[in-house]
Amino acid sequence: MVKNAKDKVHEMLHSGEGWTDFESQLKDIEVKCVVQPLSEPKEPIAKLKTNTLLDDILGGGGLEAGRVVELYGEFASGKTQVIFTLVVEAASEGMVLYIDSEDTFSRTRIIGIAKAREKDIEKINANIMKFSPQSWEEQLAVPSRIPEEFPTPLKLIVVDSLMALFRSTPEFGGRSNLGKRQELIRYHLRQLKQLAQKYGAIVVFSNQVYDEPVANPWMPKWACQKAAGGHSVWHIGDFRIFLRKAMGNVRIARLVDNAEIPSAERPFQINEKGIDDLSEDQQKLALEKLQKYEEAQAAGQFAKVKKKKTTTEDMANETVGEGENVEETEGKDV
Ligand code: ATP
Ligand code: MG
Repeated sequence: MVKNAKDKVHEMLHSGEGWTDFESQLKDIEVKCVVQPLSEPKEPIAKLKTNTLLDDILGGGGLEAGRVVELYGEFASGKTQVIFTLVVEAASEGMVLYIDSEDTFSRTRIIGIAKAREKDIEKINANIMKFSPQSWEEQLAVPSRIPEEFPTPLKLIVVDSLMALFRSTPEFGGRSNLGKRQELIRYHLRQLKQLAQKYGAIVVFSNQVYDEPVANPWMPKWACQKAAGGHSVWHIGDFRIFLRKAMGNVRIARLVDNAEIPSAERPFQINEKGIDDLSEDQQKLALEKLQKYEEAQAAGQFAKVKKKKTTTEDMANETVGEGENVEETEGKDV
C-alpha cells in the first residue's frame, strides 16, 4: 500500500524512530485554502432569532448558520426555555434535530410557545426530530443516525444537555478516568461542529455547572459557577452564554465569550412566549432588587469568613480572582 504524507507523519509520531524528513512530508499534506473576501456579503444572511433583546448577545442580532452556542447555568436558570424558544423559531423555517439527554423535552410547552408567538403549529410539529439517548454511547451514536437529507433544510441541532449522561456514568468517576471522558467529550463536540458545517445548521447545547470555591467573600455566589466539562468544552462555543436566576421568572443572560462582540448582560423573563423582554421599568426594578440581594448575600458570606479569620491580611492573601484558578479544572472532577 502506498502511504500518503499524513500516514507517514503518523508513523513518525508512533514509531519513536525520529522525525526524519518531517518538513518535506508536511509539504506534501494538502491543506484547504480559499480566498476569503473581507467585503460584506451582497445577500443578507438569514439569522435565527429569539425576537428578544437576547439576540443582541446571541449572535449580535441573531445566529448565523454554522455557529455553536453554549448555554450554561444552574438548574432552572432558563437553559431549556431559551432552547424551546429557539426550537419554535427554527422549526417554523426548517428542521430541528433535538438530542434530549435529560428527558426534559416538552411538546406541550413547545406548542404553548408556538401559540403565544402565533406560529404554524402543524409545521413546527412536523419539523422536529427528537433523539432520546439513554447513555453516553447512545448520545455519541446520534450523529451517525442523522439522515443525509431532510425535507426542509436543517436549521438547528440541540443537545440538552451535553454533559448529563457523561457526568452520571460511574465509569468516568474519579480523577483517573477523567481523561477518557474528556477525550469522548472533545470527540462529541467535533461531531457537532462538523454537523453544523455540513448542514449549515446552528448547534445549541446546554451545559450544567459546578461550584468552584472562591475565597473572596465579596464575590456573588454565581461567580463561583463554572461550566462543566473543563477547557475542552469552554473553547468550542462561538457564543458562551451564562444564565443565572434573578427574582421570580426573571433571568439574566451574560455573554461570556465571543470573538466579535464584547461581553454584555441582558435580563429577560420566562413566560408563555418561552423567553420574552422585560419593560424598561421591570428591567430596572429586577436589576436593583438583584443587586441588593447579591450585596446582602455577599455581606452574609463576608461576616461568616471574618469570624474564621484572624487578620485581614490572611484574607487578602487568599483572595482569588474570577477565572484565575480555572486553569486547574481540566482533569478535575468537573
Ligand atoms: P435544568 O438544569 O434543571 O435543566 P434549566 O436551566 O434548563 O434547568 P429551565 O427548564 O429552562 O431550567 O427553566 C425552568 C424555569 O422556568 C422554572 O423556574 C419554571 O418556573 C420556569 N417556567 C417554565 N415554564 C414557565 C412559564 N410558562 N411561565 C413562567 N415560567 C416558566
Ligand atoms: Mg433544562
